[in-house]
Amino acid sequence: MLCQYETELTHMINDVKKFTKDGKVADYIPALATANQNTLAVAVFDGTDTCFSAGQSREKFTLQSISKVLTLALAIMDHGEEYVFSKVGMEPTGDPFNSIIKLESHAPSKPLNPMINAGALAVSHLIKGANSEEKIERLLHFIRMLSGNQTISYNLAVAKSEFETADLNRSLAYFMKQHGIIEGDIEVLLDFYTKQCAIETDCHDLARIGYVLANGGKSTLNNEEIVPMSVARIVKTFMVTCGMYNASGEFAMKVGIPAKSGVSGGIVGSVPNGMGIGIYGPALDDKGNSIAGMKLLEAMSSKYQLSIF
Ligand code: GLU
Repeated sequence: MLCQYETELTHMINDVKKFTKDGKVADYIPALATANQNTLAVAVFDGTDTCFSAGQSREKFTLQSISKVLTLALAIMDHGEEYVFSKVGMEPTGDPFNSIIKLESHAPSKPLNPMINAGALAVSHLIKGANSEEKIERLLHFIRMLSGNQTISYNLAVAKSEFETADLNRSLAYFMKQHGIIEGDIEVLLDFYTKQCAIETDCHDLARIGYVLANGGKSTLNNEEIVPMSVARIVKTFMVTCGMYNASGEFAMKVGIPAKSGVSGGIVGSVPNGMGIGIYGPALDDKGNSIAGMKLLEAMSSKYQLSIF
């Protein structure tokens, strides 16, 4: 696949790197504000090896919203599709990821989908475990299997920084508790959610995770099933319809690769039949997506016809 085009890919990255200047690093979580705006890194995994990488592809960053894809998969594996979607909807939204408006205007206060913060909180609440530590250990175990990297953990400083400033997410969670979507101690949920968002990977890990999803949930090491194929299909569908916040429609048109971004500037991409892509570019556009990362995916998709449509 793409791996034979090292030189072309390197040129593409050099071409789009200039867009990092037009974006802005997320600062509403104080610990994210120190990221280097000029960074643009990528890794591509073809099922056997990381066949292409560029930039600081070994630099670690936190998953932020990319974690929502993985908690959704784990929650469905924990409880089944029917129960999970009794708590969270399946419809995309044109509202920003942290909006509260539809919770109030849509009966019965069920969040629209698992990729917006309200929906992700409702899903995180479902992860099995006696306490927050047990839940995060289960999620880490799952992500270590997906990435093949046993050293993956969360960044406590980033988790703490978000926990201390997460008043909007708190209000979404309290609202849903009042309306019976979630139960229990909201501070415990916030503790888990902020740790989940602070799980650190590099581009190589993301590329491998993207590959497993592209590969119907099977491990890259021994073809063992890590995620049932039906669950991989569900999460990839959400990546297409809701993965790039309220720019998902435009992204589907211009790029057409199942992908999920996070406000750290990470993007995971799953190209059917054989490729995972991990991108890190912390300068974001006004919707919260890596500005140069989006340009890179657009260039790759158009050059190599990667769109699923
Ligand atoms: N931890 C972030 C939040 O809840 C994730 C947002 C994102 O990456 O979109 O605000």
